[in-house]
Amino acid sequence: MGLLPYKNEPYLDWTNESNTQAMRAALAQIEGSLGKSYPLIIGGKMVETDAEIISVNPSNPSQIVGRIAAATEREAHMALETATKAFDSWSKTRAEARARILLRAAAIMRRRKLEFLAWEVYEGGKPWAEADAQVAEAIDFLEYYAREMLRLKDGVDIYSVPGEESRYFYQPMGVGVIIAPWNFPTAILTGMSSAAIVAGNTIVMKPSEFTSVVGAKVAEVFSEAGLPDGVLNFCPGYGGEIGDYLVTDARTRFISFTGSVATGLRINELAARQIERQRWIKRVIVETGGKDAMIIDDSADLEAAASDIVKSAYGYSGQKCSAASRAILHQDIYEEVLNKVVEKTRALKVGVPENADVTIGPVISDAQFEKVSSYIETGKEEGERVLGEDPGDPKNGYFIPPTIYGGVEPKARIAQEEIFGPVLSVISARDFDEALRIANDNPYGLTGGVYSSTRDHLERARQEFKAGNVYFNRTITGALVGVQPFGGFGLSGTDSKAGGPDYLPLHMLARTVVERF
Ligand code: NAD
Repeated sequence: MGLLPYKNEPYLDWTNESNTQAMRAALAQIEGSLGKSYPLIIGGKMVETDAEIISVNPSNPSQIVGRIAAATEREAHMALETATKAFDSWSKTRAEARARILLRAAAIMRRRKLEFLAWEVYEGGKPWAEADAQVAEAIDFLEYYAREMLRLKDGVDIYSVPGEESRYFYQPMGVGVIIAPWNFPTAILTGMSSAAIVAGNTIVMKPSEFTSVVGAKVAEVFSEAGLPDGVLNFCPGYGGEIGDYLVTDARTRFISFTGSVATGLRINELAARQIERQRWIKRVIVETGGKDAMIIDDSADLEAAASDIVKSAYGYSGQKCSAASRAILHQDIYEEVLNKVVEKTRALKVGVPENADVTIGPVISDAQFEKVSSYIETGKEEGERVLGEDPGDPKNGYFIPPTIYGGVEPKARIAQEEIFGPVLSVISARDFDEALRIANDNPYGLTGGVYSSTRDHLERARQEFKAGNVYFNRTITGALVGVQPFGGFGLSGTDSKAGGPDYLPLHMLARTVVERF
């Protein structure tokens, strides 16, 4: 196929007035569409359910964004059955034809970009630039995995012995269950689903209960792109109600999950058991949380370091698995960097993300609000609150002011546990060795950063920093598809490296065929 080389989708320029006007128009248009109902889509047919998920705007929880049908085991069974039947023909569809559907989905998403951004603002509480980066990432996944499938469609080279031909190629695996989180509702759901589909599998797609309207929109794009009925079965529902059923069922061949450690480990455990009629060992791709650290040594550009700590800690209110939640500062520059970080964080604008100038929106839900608030209380005992105040009444939106704790001990709970909110723990270290030890003394290992101009420190961190994605002298969030393949070590996941060259083969069976002549 004569495709242009892969290139990341550019971000919108919000200093351009025509973009801001178009975004305001999209928000107004979507506001008029709030509160609608969305059915399940199984085998191309709408399926209504008795129960529903009511999805609300986290900035204004009394505003209903949509009512989404909630699957029970009955519908989960229908979805698995339909996906199993559709696998027969989809797995035999040529790789080029499958890739074209992703390319068309990318084109549709590009055309509907502002509409997607507006849904992200209303349902995800995302500031504009965060929503834009995320929809761009979804488009990137589609473009990248389409090309990856074309690269891999005839297999890869291996050696043959004289008189024989050895071939090594990939084939589809079966029915995949795709379970996504709420924090990147377009990007992660699109990425996990498109990889599974382009590899020739059929899927049951379960978005997060907090962002199922965006999930319905993603499913709609695949349908508009011409994906045959039954390949993607849109099956929203509560994880606690249908998750175990989907994971344990004998028809499920693999599970691709992104979310919390607790859920990931449960899926891993349940999927490991063989049940009646199950004829394979299920494959499990699990990507989970982080407690990501940035080390700043005494040779660093302190101004740039402070700016990038703030960007990495507070983008999307810290609700990124890659977010910097620990800043580990060399003792000699501790005060200076902390002061700069406080000053720059103060300049962030907290508010309702429908407004263009807001940089920090709400956290996603009541439960998340309570969890982060309780860590803010814990922090008062474990460190000195140098910025932030107690959150207000969640009835007025799940807003939490950016919070910084200084003088935190490395073993404190706020330095060890994933908070997933706008809370930064600042830790002092005697020297670089101690800083690296503190960074690594954590069960997670997703992202990490070092700010330094000392070559030896960077080279050591290159090898020794326990994280799947390590960044030097820059931010540690916003991994670009095809440029910074993403996935974690330790309890952060199975290191699947989404958006990288090893990702698609996780969704396929590799076959070796040898012929002697
Ligand atoms: P979560 O584990 O609560 O939910 C994730 C998904 O799992 C949802 O769709 C939910 O409905 C489903 N689920 C819940 N119980 C289930 C069960 N028993 N069986 C099957 N599915 C079930 O996580 P969340 O709150 O949606 O997401 C936030 C977490 O995701 C954070 O820990 C964050 O760090 C992590 N995350 C990781 C990455 C990464 O790439 N490593 C990316 C984004 C988010």
